Amino acid sequence: MIDAERLRILTESAKYDVSCSSSGSARQNKGGLGNAAPAGICHSFTPDGRCISLLKILMSNNCRYQCKYCVNRADNDIPRATATPDEICELVMHFYKRNYIEGLFLSSAVFDTPDKTMELMCETVIKLREVYHFFGYIHMKGIPHADKLLLERAAKYVDRMSYNIELPSEKSLQLLAPQKTKESLLLPMKEIALQKLDRKENKIHDRFLPAGQTTQMIVGASPETDADIVRLSESLYRKFGLKRVYYSSYMPVVHDSLLPDTGAGLLREHRLYQADWLLRFYGFTADEIAPVGRNLEEAYDPKCAWAMRNMQLFPLEVNTAPQEMLLRVPGIGMRGAQKILQARRHGKLDFAALARMRIVLKRARHFITCNGKFYGSEKQETVTAALALSDSENRNTQLSFFSTPNTALSVLTGEF
Ligand code: SF4
Repeated sequence: MIDAERLRILTESAKYDVSCSSSGSARQNKGGLGNAAPAGICHSFTPDGRCISLLKILMSNNCRYQCKYCVNRADNDIPRATATPDEICELVMHFYKRNYIEGLFLSSAVFDTPDKTMELMCETVIKLREVYHFFGYIHMKGIPHADKLLLERAAKYVDRMSYNIELPSEKSLQLLAPQKTKESLLLPMKEIALQKLDRKENKIHDRFLPAGQTTQMIVGASPETDADIVRLSESLYRKFGLKRVYYSSYMPVVHDSLLPDTGAGLLREHRLYQADWLLRFYGFTADEIAPVGRNLEEAYDPKCAWAMRNMQLFPLEVNTAPQEMLLRVPGIGMRGAQKILQARRHGKLDFAALARMRIVLKRARHFITCNGKFYGSEKQETVTAALALSDSENRNTQLSFFSTPNTALSVLTGEF
């Protein structure tokens, strides 16, 4: 059994990876413990909003690589530890039985060769499934430069894999993570996408990564703008069918002259998550969300910022506008747009009906008409103030779930 000190070191070293939230797995229990199928994974969150529902642990934090931003890099003087596959399996089983965790997020530093590291990770997940009969959720981080066969082997046993891009450009990767290459990160993602496509086309139902793949980018460690980051995310979603791109605001945990002295701030991370939501669910393109060479607006969420840049398209008549345009109105989210479409079948809508549907009229009224009536303002300053209102108190702090009703709802549902 792993001792408490090594457990502390290996879980502490894993905490900067945020690409571990889980969803969408359909793996079923075949007579063992745990089940990712019926209810997915229960999430819980640390005070700064990060997911801790899984046992999040490194196989080893003894890294040979020198990624400048990483606390585990080879020349950083910290306590080192490595666990064996059996130690991790026992830990998962004990924690699961005590109801501490629902699943496992297994990552590792590159403690020997990439192949050797990934072999041990594969051994761990295979043992968990076949020896310990654990059918709960497993997310495994892929090791760049490891053999493609190891990826294929792992993918049959885990629910989700992630190869973390970390830095949004090849130039920054060369500078800050010199042992990693663009190919070592993108080729495995491409391989996963091709294998999934092949299985779909040939109707092969063999549990190959049922919850797909994700990645993570560090924001603010390198000079790329939010526009670069959003474009990269769009391309990753399109080319490799990623389930999620996670954004991690850079935090200076180790000193290096190539890195900024201060963190990027959680507001920047939050704005990127909002932009990501617009890409995935609201039909926006990266070009619309983030004009080239710029960061996202701090003062407004990216949907409001887009609306402010495109005032010539408004006001929209709420009784006739198509869904894709309703979704672009600040204050009308996905559920709001659906309610409007449904209610329109039975008659004309007025502002009172919209209020009953919980459309955020404080924002939306500046962008819509109801039966030709407009109750917004034509003064730019009034509209600007209305859009900035709900975010103003959160500029430099982690968004609280419950600071304002609007923010709380937006954080939980992604609607804005
Ligand atoms: S490979 Fe780089 S990011 Fe990963 S643990 Fe090693 S130093 Fe850190």
